[in-house]
Amino acid sequence: MSLFVQKFGGTSVASIERIEKIAARIIRAREARHDVVVVVSAMGDETDRLVSLADEVNYDGLDARRELDVLLSTGEQTTIALLAMTLLKHGVKAESVLGWQASILTDSEHGKARVLEIDAAVLQAKISDGVVPVVAGFQGSDEKGHITTLGRGGSDTSAVAIAAALEADRCDIYTDVDGVYTTDPRIAPKATKLARITFEEMLEMASSGAKVLQPRSVAMAMRHDVNLQVRSSFNDA
Ligand code: ADP
Ligand code: ASP
Ligand code: MG
Repeated sequence: MSLFVQKFGGTSVASIERIEKIAARIIRAREARHDVVVVVSAMGDETDRLVSLADEVNYDGLDARRELDVLLSTGEQTTIALLAMTLLKHGVKAESVLGWQASILTDSEHGKARVLEIDAAVLQAKISDGVVPVVAGFQGSDEKGHITTLGRGGSDTSAVAIAAALEADRCDIYTDVDGVYTTDPRIAPKATKLARITFEEMLEMASSGAKVLQPRSVAMAMRHDVNLQVRSSFNDA
């Protein structure tokens, strides 16, 4: 039996229909007798919508970063509840888990917090009970219990940090492209898919703006030697 962390990005959870599809994928992994920890992003452009709402408040000059993190973290909370409900409906024991509930401790840099530590025992206990934890990506909490977010695209880092803490066999990043390409396949149709890429090369690509993986997730994977894969959430590629 292997332990897989499966992370699903915004497009992959953008509607109930898509959430049903990824639930089916999670169920297939369970039927193959794998343990799974799921990490999800906010639905579609929800985080952008929340940012615009905050902008409307016009809090210029006020340090509202703490409140902004409370607001932005709600996107992922919606997704974990909907996905856990979908899995329950299909007879899978699943439980939504917020960042602080998963003991994801970060520093206090609101909006770009770094993961300092994860108490693996919390998720481990759920896995041992046969439960699929559905964890909210992009968020944690600092030593004072304030909610923090990890920077845009930060769910990738949540997934890798959890995979490292649990010593998972693999961390799969399911997204709207079927792998890492030489350049963004949406912009350059002639881009070719890379079967493998070193951490160093991937870090360079991510740091120069290839948003398929958040740079910090690659750095974290390199540090902990996490087996990281980018896969399509729409097919088996
Ligand atoms: P998610 O919401 O699943 O996290 P993102 O939008 O953050 O997805 O990342 C996936 C996007 O990354 C793709 O739609 C693609 O346009 C873009 N991208 C940029 N560079 C690359 C690359 N070299 N290989 C693959 N995808 C890339
Ligand atoms: N929902 C967050 C964002 O839009 C985190 C993520 O998608 O990884 O940046
Ligand atoms: Mg992303």
